[in-house]
Amino acid sequence: MQQPPLPDNEPQRLALLYALDLLDSPNEPVFDTLTRLAARTLRVPTALVSLLDTNRQWFKSRAGLDAAETPRSQAFCAHTILKDEPLVVHDARLDPRFRDNPLVTGPLAVRAYAGVPLRSVEGLALGTLCVLDQSPREFTADELATLADLADLARQELLRREASLQARTLAQADGRLLAQRGALVQTLFEHAAVGMAMVGLDGSWLRVNQRICDILGRPAAALIGHTFQAVTHPDDLNADLTQMQALLQGERDQYAMEKRYLRPDGTVVWGQLTVGIVREHGVPAWFVATVDDISSRKATEHALAMLRDDLERRVLDRTEQLRVRSEQLEAILENALDAFVAIDGDGLVIHWNRQAEQTFGWSRAEATGQPLAQLIIPPTMREAHVAGMAHMTRTGEAPVIGQRMELPAMRRDGLTLPCEVTINTLPQTGGKPVFFAFLHDISARRSAQDALLASERRVRVITDNLPVLVAYVDREQRYGFCNATYRTWLGVDPAAAVGQHVAAVLGEQGYALRRPLIERALAGEQAEADIEVPQGDDVRHLHLRYFPDTAPDGQVQGLYALATDVTETRLAHRQLIQLARTDALTGLPNRRAFEEAFDQAMARHRRTGRPIALAFMDIDRFKLINDTHGHGIGDEVLQTFALRLTSCVRMTDTVARLAGDEFVIILEGLNHAHEADIVARKILAAIDHPFELSAGLTLPVQTSIGIAYQARGQHGAQALLEAADRALYAAKAAGRNTHCVISTDAA
Ligand code: GH3
Ligand code: MG
Repeated sequence: MQQPPLPDNEPQRLALLYALDLLDSPNEPVFDTLTRLAARTLRVPTALVSLLDTNRQWFKSRAGLDAAETPRSQAFCAHTILKDEPLVVHDARLDPRFRDNPLVTGPLAVRAYAGVPLRSVEGLALGTLCVLDQSPREFTADELATLADLADLARQELLRREASLQARTLAQADGRLLAQRGALVQTLFEHAAVGMAMVGLDGSWLRVNQRICDILGRPAAALIGHTFQAVTHPDDLNADLTQMQALLQGERDQYAMEKRYLRPDGTVVWGQLTVGIVREHGVPAWFVATVDDISSRKATEHALAMLRDDLERRVLDRTEQLRVRSEQLEAILENALDAFVAIDGDGLVIHWNRQAEQTFGWSRAEATGQPLAQLIIPPTMREAHVAGMAHMTRTGEAPVIGQRMELPAMRRDGLTLPCEVTINTLPQTGGKPVFFAFLHDISARRSAQDALLASERRVRVITDNLPVLVAYVDREQRYGFCNATYRTWLGVDPAAAVGQHVAAVLGEQGYALRRPLIERALAGEQAEADIEVPQGDDVRHLHLRYFPDTAPDGQVQGLYALATDVTETRLAHRQLIQLARTDALTGLPNRRAFEEAFDQAMARHRRTGRPIALAFMDIDRFKLINDTHGHGIGDEVLQTFALRLTSCVRMTDTVARLAGDEFVIILEGLNHAHEADIVARKILAAIDHPFELSAGLTLPVQTSIGIAYQARGQHGAQALLEAADRALYAAKAAGRNTHCVISTDAA
């Protein structure tokens, strides 16, 4: 970043800047108008009047910038004041003087700049009028000329202050000093860029400079000896004279005003007048006046005023549109189906539409101007209403505003209606706010809701007390209803389940079990299935019935799901099956179970080609045991006999009791008839130990065994059964306590 050198006349420059007392002074419309105009006409975001102090640039006016000042070291304007012509930067990033300037690299991101120095009478550059842009850009010759014109206006303003300063300084200096500096004063006076004059206490021109002659359009000779009153526009004369009186009476030392002068050609010129009083020995002696031509500024102001007028007219147009809109709104409100009521800040009705008349029974004429509380607020609620209104008006806090509420309202005949109410407010400038409310009689809706709620309650009470899962599931497979049984059986909170997907409520596994039924029901079919759900260490058996909820138009909207607990029935059923297939005394499979098992074993035998054997056992002389020791002991013998048989064979071999003392064993997986022989001997040996029975009784028990053996499946079950029977018969015939094997292979 290149630091600009200080101007040669820097001490004088600063001295004048400080003397003019501009730094840190309040905003002034004249400069603000200029920066706004500059920004607007050059289409830039920022325009500034910058004054260069020792170490800072301070903005006398800033359009489009928040900062009040920046360090002088960063100021583009510090370069501008070194030159006579405007400083123009098209893209600061490409300019070695500025490319690393924080105003360029920082958030302000200055890219383009154009500034014109503002010089005093003696050519001291106090600051600049400048514009900034955040995009690189060129400035056209026209734009730069406009900027120079605006800078000239700003400069005129500065010059005017400089002149007043000089006038003030002169006026305050004593006569002697005045005399000494006569020559200088004369020069200043004559060459000042503002009009200057010495005016007698009666308003007569004593001395005038060239500039004031130019402004007034008259030579000095035409002024001297005449009064300023004669060239003042009649509309501005009084104001001027009044202020002059204030000076004469010592109420103030100086006044400034904008006024119009009349030129000989009949035209009017606007002047910015500053008048100071010079006293000699404390007595008013004469006035010193400076006049600056502000016609061009006035023209600008006039243009702005026109613009403002135009804006105002447009606002008026819009106001007219608003009026039409408001009439339309009135018509809508009047015909609204809701009662529309508005009250002023004192609670008095100011609006009451037709529906309000119908709902509450008061005509508009009767209601208007009445306290709303008396008309429609039930007596028990009036106090609260009045307190609430007072609170809202006092604090501006209105918790009910904009809320949809259900409140009771009273009709003219005293009947109370449930109403849906929304209240809103319109703040009134300088007054209490207006409140308005829409009220809708919801008695009918309320009773329909009550009926629906009652019916829902009934359904819930009934279903909650049924030992059945009852649910409604919608098309998206989300629960619409679950009864309380869901909690007791499945641990599902019925309220929480509503709105949830079945999978989310029952888990993936539970959902997988039910999914086919859900899909069938949603496709319009009834579906049933039994499923098992874990319950603690046990299993609960459920019978599910799903059926579709079909709308009158045939669309399936969802499904009803019922589930009954069939655990008990299922177990009973299994027990019955078990019982029907088991011998009650020994717990062995009975004849029916044997027949099934034998059919399956024969099928396997045929399929695999592996040998099969069938062993029949019949206790020897069992009748004698019964007869000797009683039926009870006989039963015990049968039970012990069954146990010993079971212990002789493999788990896979089926031992069954066919009837009385007849038992049978299906032997599978034997490799040879010889092995049947071995099994038979094993059984005989197992039975051969005395049976230990109740009451210390021991009995020897023996059995005969007949075995049919078949290596390959050429004969059926019947042949094998008959062969076993024949073999048993043979064993009995052979003297009992022995066995006989018949192979059907040979037959
Ligand atoms: P055998 O050596 O020829 O077989 O002579 P047995 O006396 O054993 O004659 P059989 O096998 O024909 O007799 C079976 C007897 O079993 C007949 C019946 O009274 C008896 N019995 C049948 N069922 C039961 C039962 O459930 N309990 C008891 N205690 N006895 C039964
Ligand atoms: Mg027997």
